[in-house]
Amino acid sequence: MWPITCVALGLLLWGATLSKVNIEQQFLEKNALKDAALLSAAYAQHLANAIDQADQITKLVKHQWEQSNRALRLEDSFQIGSFPDSRHLFVNLIDANGGTITRSLRNGRRDYIADRDYFIFHKTNNENVLFVGQPVTSRSTGKTVIHFSRRLEKPDGAFDGVVVVSVEPILFSSFHGGKQLGQAGLLAMIGKDRILRTSTTGGAAGKPAPAPFVSIPAFLGEQGAKLMAGTPWFTDSHARFVGWSAVDSHPFIAVVGLSKDELYAPHLQTWETYKTYAFFGSLFLIISALVGTFFSSRLALSTHRAEKIREEYGIATEGGNDGFYLWRALRDRNGTPIDFEILDCNERGARLYGFTRAQMLGRKISGFYDDASLVESLLKTHRHAMETGFYEDEYRVPPESPIKEEWLHRRLVRSNLGLAVTLRDISEAKAHERELLRLANEDELTGLPNRSWFVNFLPTAIERAKSGGTKLGILFIDLDNFKDINNTLGHSVGDELLREASLRLQSVLRPSDSAVRFGGDEFIIVLEDIAKETKATTVATRIIDTFNQPFELPSGRHVISASIGISLFPRDGEDVETLMKNADIAMYATKGAGKGHFRFFDPQLYIHMKHRLETEQALLRALELDQFALFYQPRVSAATGQLCGMEALVRWLHPERGLVPPLEFITLAENTGLILKLGEVVMAKACAQLAAWRSQGLPLVPVSINVSAKQFNQGNIKQLLESHLARHEVPPTLVEIEITESVMMGEHTEIIDQLAAIRGLGIKVLVDDFGTGYSSLSQLQRLDMDVLKVDRAFTAELGTKEGEILFRAIMSMAHALGMAVVAEGVETVEQLQMLQQLSCDEIQGYFISRPLPAVEMQVLMRKQFLFPSELHAAALGHLDSTS
Ligand code: C2E
Ligand code: CA
Ligand code: CA
Repeated sequence: MWPITCVALGLLLWGATLSKVNIEQQFLEKNALKDAALLSAAYAQHLANAIDQADQITKLVKHQWEQSNRALRLEDSFQIGSFPDSRHLFVNLIDANGGTITRSLRNGRRDYIADRDYFIFHKTNNENVLFVGQPVTSRSTGKTVIHFSRRLEKPDGAFDGVVVVSVEPILFSSFHGGKQLGQAGLLAMIGKDRILRTSTTGGAAGKPAPAPFVSIPAFLGEQGAKLMAGTPWFTDSHARFVGWSAVDSHPFIAVVGLSKDELYAPHLQTWETYKTYAFFGSLFLIISALVGTFFSSRLALSTHRAEKIREEYGIATEGGNDGFYLWRALRDRNGTPIDFEILDCNERGARLYGFTRAQMLGRKISGFYDDASLVESLLKTHRHAMETGFYEDEYRVPPESPIKEEWLHRRLVRSNLGLAVTLRDISEAKAHERELLRLANEDELTGLPNRSWFVNFLPTAIERAKSGGTKLGILFIDLDNFKDINNTLGHSVGDELLREASLRLQSVLRPSDSAVRFGGDEFIIVLEDIAKETKATTVATRIIDTFNQPFELPSGRHVISASIGISLFPRDGEDVETLMKNADIAMYATKGAGKGHFRFFDPQLYIHMKHRLETEQALLRALELDQFALFYQPRVSAATGQLCGMEALVRWLHPERGLVPPLEFITLAENTGLILKLGEVVMAKACAQLAAWRSQGLPLVPVSINVSAKQFNQGNIKQLLESHLARHEVPPTLVEIEITESVMMGEHTEIIDQLAAIRGLGIKVLVDDFGTGYSSLSQLQRLDMDVLKVDRAFTAELGTKEGEILFRAIMSMAHALGMAVVAEGVETVEQLQMLQQLSCDEIQGYFISRPLPAVEMQVLMRKQFLFPSELHAAALGHLDSTS
């Protein structure tokens, strides 16, 4: 369009310019033709006058000649000035033979003129008419002249000569109107015989000058004007406006030519200016056309490119899984978007809505849904994206939507036209994700939710309870002795049991409660929305009860109890961590208190636990820093007081607390496993002490070492003893071990074997705290124990009749089984004396000595007999009764 428009404008410009020039030229031409005609008329008048003058002269001279009877002397006439402008005109009177009779020129030659055409004309023609000749060279002056002549006649009418007026052409060309001719203008006097008589140009200033006619044209009619252009007319190739007029009563035509060039000359500048304007206008148009074309073609190119890119993009997106939409916001008067309209979408996008692309265009969000709240929520999202420029989420498609995909990834981006929205079907990925989530949140074995589900769930449950103002109960359940079942019956039985246990747990729950397998044999139950603590009590009781029923499994009948710790929100904590910790503490407390029960959390438990933990840490450090030492308490013969053994009792030399008694840390060491390490330390120290005493030359007696049940589980007591004895080169007979009845409980053949092996080394085994446990006589017999250490509770009861009977029974039973008896905790002389009477073998207690450090023990070792001789059984007469 640019080039075409510019060319059209250019043509218009040039058309207007040229037509303006043309109009002006035509106007000039018309005027020029008029001027030429007028001038020619004036010139014709001028010529008529001049010819008339010349004719008057011929007539006058002829008349005078005839009146003077042929005696006229023209020379005189001129002197008296009877002829006008004699400079350019002279008169001759010629006789019938052609000789000059008289003439106005004084000093011209008298020529013979009989051959001149005028002479021949008048001689042969007897009419009295004026003859006008052609320009010829005068024979008397040598100048060009035109002859005007009349016939002279004798009275009888015979030819008598000619009067001839020779007129220089200048008389015809000196026309005042000639000033208008300009340089190339033209005056011409032409005979009707088409013979030029005289002419002049503007440049000749009135003097005769040859007319530039190529040939004399025929000027028809009385008067006329026309443009004679180009070389066919004029030799100087000027174009001229030529006007002509017939000279009145003479056979001549006055011709005036005005040069077109000269006529145009004053206007050429203006016309050039017009054309310059037109030229610059054209130039401007050309530049505009070029620039316009350049830019518009660039625009066209980029539009084309954009179109191409759009197409390519279209191809790419149609192939993909994404629906693309361009929404335009429809706004209310305040500019708030109240609805959105589809400007464009791809086919995939249309298909998501169940339409074709053409059907989608122009649809509004509000038109897709009947549900007003759904529309409002969608508009809210779209408005948000319009405001912030971007919105992205994963969107669960509501069932009312025309979109049938379950999950979409939505991405809304503000664009120039509105909102560019991408929807991607992520239903499959979501399903996969859900499956993964299920796998991640579900315990494979029991199908219960697992720990990772729980850590996400509990905070939300707490939130719900918080906002609802309700309580929450957390039951921490641990199966008792499950490890034993796993270890003894195998993991598959363990798994079976866990599955069954989880079913039982679920059976006692309400739908609003959740059971979780927390790991191993630990379960958690969350009771939501409980009004009172009693609800938790009810559930816990039901769980304990259901676990009291034996498990009937393919592998057999199993009895397993559960210990439960309970924490309550908000009473025992308001966050996940505290609630869990407290439920755990409560559960441990339950375990500590004998298992198979439940217990609510109580801050006291926490303090206890904390103390325990701290002690445990401290114990560990104490072991590293070797803060343990052994005290020794002598065991003496009840009859003589002679030292016959000593018990090694561990003490913790605490840098701040001083001497810490074993009752404060042994149980803890047992529960944490530190007892293994500690037990070994005791063995090492006892052996080392024996070796030291031996090197000091002291009389050695056996040292008994307390070994707890936990140490037997490890199975290497014998090896440890052996290696420590060997290291210090102490004979096994100098070491004894004390075990409580609980060690021998059950049918643990391993422990029985270990005891036998230890005894095999020559090490005596003493039954400690006898009477507090449930050991049967048959067991004691079978295990072939060496010594019974009767618990000091029995010693303390010796003052009563029942105590004495009981002690006597123990004594007789032990002696019957071949075991010696040691009475522990002997504090008084009365007790000693009674024991002597009961024939107790040995005694130990504060009455003899408190446990002492090794250096003090040395004194007693040297002393040998540790009570005065008057207390000897023999001295008191007790010997008889026993022997
Ligand atoms: P146990 O084996 O029954 O040790 C005797 C405890 O009775 C000792 O307490 C001792 O000081 C105390 N005792 C001795 N004579 C009397 C008395 O006349 N009257 C009273 N009231 N008490 C008396 P200790 O030393 O505090 O030890 C307590 C328990 O710690 C021990 O009881 C023993 O079971 C354990 N124990 C001590 N040392 C060790 C050890 O090295 N290894 C292990 N596994 N246990 C140890
Ligand atoms: Ca003991
Ligand atoms: Ca004891």
